[in-house]
Amino acid sequence: MKALVLEGKEKIKYIEVDTPVCPNDGLLIKIDSVGLCGSDVRTYSHGHHDVKYPCILGHENAGTIVEIGNLVSGFNLGEKIIVNPVLPCGKCWYCQKGWQHMCSDRLTYGHTIQGGFAEYMVVPGVGLERGQVIKIPDDVSTDDMVIVELLSSVINSQEYANVTLGETIAIFGTGPIGCLHAEIAKLRGAKDIIMIDINDNRLELSKKFSGTKFINSAKVDIVKEIMDYTNGFGVDAAIIATPAIESQAQGLDILRKRGRLVIFGGVSSENPYTTLNSNTIHYNEIAVLGSFAYGPNNFQKAFDIVCNKMINTDGFITHKLPLSKVEEGIAEVKAGNALKVVLKPTMN
Ligand SMILES: [Zn+2]
Ligand SMILES: [Zn+2]
Repeated sequence: MKALVLEGKEKIKYIEVDTPVCPNDGLLIKIDSVGLCGSDVRTYSHGHHDVKYPCILGHENAGTIVEIGNLVSGFNLGEKIIVNPVLPCGKCWYCQKGWQHMCSDRLTYGHTIQGGFAEYMVVPGVGLERGQVIKIPDDVSTDDMVIVELLSSVINSQEYANVTLGETIAIFGTGPIGCLHAEIAKLRGAKDIIMIDINDNRLELSKKFSGTKFINSAKVDIVKEIMDYTNGFGVDAAIIATPAIESQAQGLDILRKRGRLVIFGGVSSENPYTTLNSNTIHYNEIAVLGSFAYGPNNFQKAFDIVCNKMINTDGFITHKLPLSKVEEGIAEVKAGNALKVVLKPTMN
């Protein structure tokens, strides 16, 4: 089969590799749609602690079952499925607590298991046993399914931060994650959703979604702008969906008392330290929350939300490309010209 093999930093090749064999206790799927995630772009550029080269990335996978192991029941050939890429151990303290994304024994497609940047992918026995494989209804496109994984993280984050009715939410970073944050904030009843970015292209693309105000923070004093906009009150929660420590500090400075600062985006591991005004946190009783991934129940909710069209996903997928054009997709993401790129292994 043809696959994209990552051989080192910024070295990815579209080549012929052995088609994986369907295990007795697993499935073989033909990949219909696989998302190019922001994390894939980071792994391509900087590597990843779980990735050993050569590696086939791709964790936002939807495909068609083409072979079923003889020990497997409950699936039929030709059915379309979406695969939760994270396989928690199910046994540790965190898994038992229901915080499976904190499990340190988890396996992940695209890192420790072959991912979907290929024509075919195996769902191994451990994937059926520990993981989440959900059948896609006939009227839902596999392209829309690539949104589910990102959306799961966003749902986890806003449940943790308890975004709720009538609130004003500021979202720093208006890429695909920021746009989904706007959609989920709206769904949870936020009144005002302020979208902030330093890139005009990205800001423009985000206008199709549920933001109510759009600000380029490179052009204004963002703290003053938002304090003026909220009549000096501040916002209820600031979600930092961008890998910039400056945004974290700005997010804190625009909060109302007892507001929540949500650090959603990881920053460069070379300089992860941030400077926050600790007196603001102290006197204003601010909650600073980290948010990183999602558990199976977030994934199921995200799947249901997309299938039932409870959020606007029109215009979310800006590019559909064959695997061979992945580097074009990466460049478009980096330039802010793409929201979501879907790779289609069946496309030439
Ligand atoms: Zn992803
Ligand atoms: Zn565990």
